[in-house]
Amino acid sequence: MDNISASEIAGFGVGTLLLCATIAAPKVDAFISASQRSSLGMCKRCGGLRMIACSQCKGVGSVRQGAALGGFSMFDDFFQPLDDGNVPTSLTPCSKCESKGRVRCPVCS
Ligand SMILES: [Zn+2]
Ligand SMILES: [Zn+2]
Repeated sequence: MDNISASEIAGFGVGTLLLCATIAAPKVDAFISASQRSSLGMCKRCGGLRMIACSQCKGVGSVRQGAALGGFSMFDDFFQPLDDGNVPTSLTPCSKCESKGRVRCPVCS
């Protein structure tokens, strides 16, 4: 059983490594790109912009009043004739981003 040479063992090892590398390639690629970003001083979350789109208003800067309550708009329509002309929209400035549409990146700020 001395026929198994060191080179064969090494060949088997290399083959296993190559197989592992193939399987892990996407993960390694993602890891490298992430580490490249951080090495370049870029934030993984915002890419160095230090700002991300506000999650509450989706970057619009204003939110529809009562939108969080679901069917509230039906109730709103019912009372609409009373406010006709006075309240053209029910949009209110977003309180989370102060109607900027952007919030500070939680990762790098
Ligand atoms: Zn907002
Ligand atoms: Zn960031």
